[in-house]
Amino acid sequence: MTTPVLEVDGLVKHYHVRGQAVRAVDGVSLSIGPGEVLGLVGESGSGKSTIGRCVLRLTEPTAGAVHLTGRDITHLSRRALRPLRRDVHMVFQDPYSSLNPRFTVGRIVAEPLRRHGVARGGPAEERVREMLERVGLGPETHRRRPHELSGGQRQRVGLARALILEPKLVVADEPVSALDVSVQASVLNLIADLQRDMGFSCLFITHDLSVVEFLADRIAVMYLGRIVETGPTKKIFAEPQHPYTQALLSAAPEPDPARQRERRRVVLRGDMPSPLDPPPGCRFHTRCPVAVDICRTDEPPLTGVRDDERPVACHLVTSSEVPDITGRD
Ligand code: SF4
Repeated sequence: MTTPVLEVDGLVKHYHVRGQAVRAVDGVSLSIGPGEVLGLVGESGSGKSTIGRCVLRLTEPTAGAVHLTGRDITHLSRRALRPLRRDVHMVFQDPYSSLNPRFTVGRIVAEPLRRHGVARGGPAEERVREMLERVGLGPETHRRRPHELSGGQRQRVGLARALILEPKLVVADEPVSALDVSVQASVLNLIADLQRDMGFSCLFITHDLSVVEFLADRIAVMYLGRIVETGPTKKIFAEPQHPYTQALLSAAPEPDPARQRERRRVVLRGDMPSPLDPPPGCRFHTRCPVAVDICRTDEPPLTGVRDDERPVACHLVTSSEVPDITGRD
């Protein structure tokens, strides 16, 4: 069996704010194989970015384990972790605040080469120029500083910096949501092309399901610190089973006018409850239009009763008909 590039097992992250525990992530397991893209989708506050930060050990997990290419990195010291940082890089949401404004683009992109002792001087410059070309930036960009670039160009610089060491895994946290809609598609296409050509695995974090439709092999949908549905992208889009996934999908933009006409938008009532005090039972029950009594008391397990490939955490999916909150025929 192929070793996953990333394996997260029972991850828990609780923050303590004024004596109260914020349950940001509450028992999440996922894995990503070589060359695979997993789209981690959920509203703001669902815990998806915290998972990305735990994978990179930018945040220390409260419990659970993170394995990179089969190695448990959960408790590795900073020093022992350093060589492994070559294999995992992050692309941030805001390309501007993640790039040092005092440095030229050439220096920013060369930084990982220098830090890991891979190349310096002429050979490093050559690799930087090649990388800038791969992300669609001309040689004139080399001497510019971040403030001289557009948002899309800055995100390309962020990609060049993340990919120059040819990592095995890229964690992309909302990489296009800070960009103008007009440039989002070109940056997404670039990420897709680079992923295909370079073959890295990717944890792609987004609040927007439609962003990952053509990019992700599999999707995991998060709600209030837990995964509620996961499976191959095509199956999730064709037949979302969890009521929350159905609601997210009903709100996603649909470029095909025929499919758009068929779709009925579901507006969920209220906001996501606070992770300071998640509801008992199914965490979605306060907003679920098809909730029944058991939902308010018993937490549904994430199981693949209907289909091994796509576990769902919903009492109705596991016990009877798949609920449909969109009112389709
Ligand atoms: Fe809705 Fe109940 Fe399913 Fe939760 S378990 S999604 S509340 S039907």
